[in-house]
Amino acid sequence: MATMRLEIVTAERLVYSEDVEMLVAPGIDGQLGILPNHAPLLTALQPGEIRVDKDGGESYMAVSGGFLEVLANKVTILADTAERAEEIDIERAEEAVRRAQERIENRTSDMDLQRAVFSLRRQQARLLAANRRRRRRGDMSPPQQP
Ligand code: ATP
Repeated sequence: MATMRLEIVTAERLVYSEDVEMLVAPGIDGQLGILPNHAPLLTALQPGEIRVDKDGGESYMAVSGGFLEVLANKVTILADTAERAEEIDIERAEEAVRRAQERIENRTSDMDLQRAVFSLRRQQARLLAANRRRRRRGDMSPPQQP
């Protein structure tokens, strides 16, 4: 099956580098599906989930924003932050949701509101990616005995 290189990097680290069959990413104007040999492209990303198809399986990551470039059968995502689903600390994200909600209730400026809303969107992306992984693992486990 045809593949393309996918690299996801942040200022801090290389998050992902593999040959993949398909990618779905949260483009600023909506979901972007990318297959091998896609035309050159440069777009901004919004907070959301990245889905990668590879070797007949799917995996998920969370991204908080950044840029996606397609060039010469290679996709590079330069992300503000990015985590593979298995790296996501669900309790930490839930705690950050609670803090952001409190900040929204007690806001004293538009800036507070904007920052809290952005934080909520980052956490939603993390919870979505982490829970998808959890659900998929649940699907594969044997049925529970009564
Ligand atoms: P927190 O308040 O919990 O730090 P945040 O949204 O402010 O959340 P960021 O500034 O977006 O955090 O990210 C800081 C670093 O921590 C990044 O490297 C990011 O990948 C990582 N990170 C943030 N939240 C999580 C999480 N729930 N699980 C794993 N890594 C996380």
